[in-house]
Amino acid sequence: MPRHSDELVFAPLGGVGEIGMNLALYGFGQELHRRWLAVDLGVAIAGDDLPGIELIFPDIRYLIEERRNIVGLVLTHAHEDHFGALIHLWPQLEIPVHATPFTAALLAAKQQGEPGAPEIPVNVVPLGGRFHLGPFDIELVSMAHSIPESNGLIIRTPLGAVLHTGDWKIDASPVIGPATDEAKLRALGNEGCLALIGDSTNAVREGRSPCEADVAKCLAELIRTAPRRVAVTTFASNVARLRTVAEAAAMCEREVVVVGRAMDRITQVARETGYLDGIKEFRSVDLYGHLPPDKVLALCTGSQGEPRAALSRISQDEHPDVAFARGDRVIFSSRAIPGNEKAVMRVINGLIAQGVEVITDRTHLVHASGHPRMDELRDMIAWVHPEILLPVHGEPLHLAEHAELARRAGVGKVLVCRDGEVVRLAPGGPEKIDEIPAGRVYKDGSLLVSAEERTVADRRRLGFSGVVSVALALSDRGEIIGDLGLTLTGIPATDAQGRNPMDVAHDAAMEAFSALPRAGRRDPELVAEAIRRAVRAALSAIWSKKPTCHVHVLEV
Ligand SMILES: [Zn+2]
Ligand SMILES: [Zn+2]
Repeated sequence: MPRHSDELVFAPLGGVGEIGMNLALYGFGQELHRRWLAVDLGVAIAGDDLPGIELIFPDIRYLIEERRNIVGLVLTHAHEDHFGALIHLWPQLEIPVHATPFTAALLAAKQQGEPGAPEIPVNVVPLGGRFHLGPFDIELVSMAHSIPESNGLIIRTPLGAVLHTGDWKIDASPVIGPATDEAKLRALGNEGCLALIGDSTNAVREGRSPCEADVAKCLAELIRTAPRRVAVTTFASNVARLRTVAEAAAMCEREVVVVGRAMDRITQVARETGYLDGIKEFRSVDLYGHLPPDKVLALCTGSQGEPRAALSRISQDEHPDVAFARGDRVIFSSRAIPGNEKAVMRVINGLIAQGVEVITDRTHLVHASGHPRMDELRDMIAWVHPEILLPVHGEPLHLAEHAELARRAGVGKVLVCRDGEVVRLAPGGPEKIDEIPAGRVYKDGSLLVSAEERTVADRRRLGFSGVVSVALALSDRGEIIGDLGLTLTGIPATDAQGRNPMDVAHDAAMEAFSALPRAGRRDPELVAEAIRRAVRAALSAIWSKKPTCHVHVLEV
């Protein structure tokens, strides 16, 4: 029985208002004595607008503060946007982690692959399993998705049951693993579902996502009719797709050669966990050149145009073992994640320039998304008929569309929230009642930097207009000893009149120094500031850009 002042709250720290870095909190108890359940701890991938940054993590300040009140972290599945931040952030939390076998195995493989990664103990939970963490009674619901073992969570509390869908779609024939567990979801609907916290990724798309079995048919046909070599690229974690490709290759007696480290790691884990049972061992990449063109299929990483991945290097003719030739066929069994379109186009253009035939989902059913479209979202609402619906896992547009769809489907209480907001679900929810610290942290080399620091903004500015360094030695009588030291980085070598900007900067600095009154010339700070301004103004006059300028004055 709940006490009078107990509350059930939902507080997302990532993934609500953006795609990626999913981290959700559920809190139960009195306001000052809440116990927290964390769901997922993912990354977002940084784009070109964040120079030097590869990964973005949710800011976990609040979790660190509340560490003692966290009853555990449950991973819904092993996509990077759900578990990618764990090995980086877990040491600051050291909370118990729960996951199903494939997710746990992939996490272990990742830890082995990264030197210095922490040993994270994982409680392995069976598919469909039920377990208690503090005040939360958690039951897993199998969901079809684009990776094995995606789980929704039914979180039962004395104030009601919540369905946290995780990533899901409806697919009656998902190639591997169980289909979305409609019976369990309908049973939850009959039992009574207080709130549905649901995936909004494809809420802007009409209809239903194609099923994996239809994709398999199309891929098999394209592989069968390929005249010469054939290569397929897809997300390495899409084991169903790997299986489909391997089966199609076996039908036409092609050996599957795996190209790319991420693909190696996943296929190993998929074999350990049984998801590639009955599939012939894949061959190592050094065999590629020795097989006749119609007896080989290359399974490549790089479907998102990642510059260091196999397909990108092949497209630029820079791969040590693999090359394509005129008449070969490359199939993109994938779709570019928003933000990656340009990178993918660069790879496609490189391949076409080599005379390779490129097939994408623009013209063939070679890919199906792992997220629910509108009709699937309506089905879920009809099965579960929640009192409350909160859209998550999406950018503002996706959340708004999901909310609208839910209202039209008859859900009485729909609320769109954002990272950092605390929403009371019961009693009397949904209502935004508080805010907690939320934000983004960048992985910069081996360090973590707050998005609020100037680091990346500075880097962007340097990337735009370069930097000038001036060094000079100043005597106590206010004279420059010797010559100025000048370094220009990232600045054009000549101006429109053919002058060297180095000379322009030098003259500007000397003139600014001479223009100072005698007393001022003995003040190193005044000297530095006058030179800095003069150099920037002079370069701006010839270039229409103002570089960063550092002046170092050495008093001798
Ligand atoms: Zn996913
Ligand atoms: Zn996701």
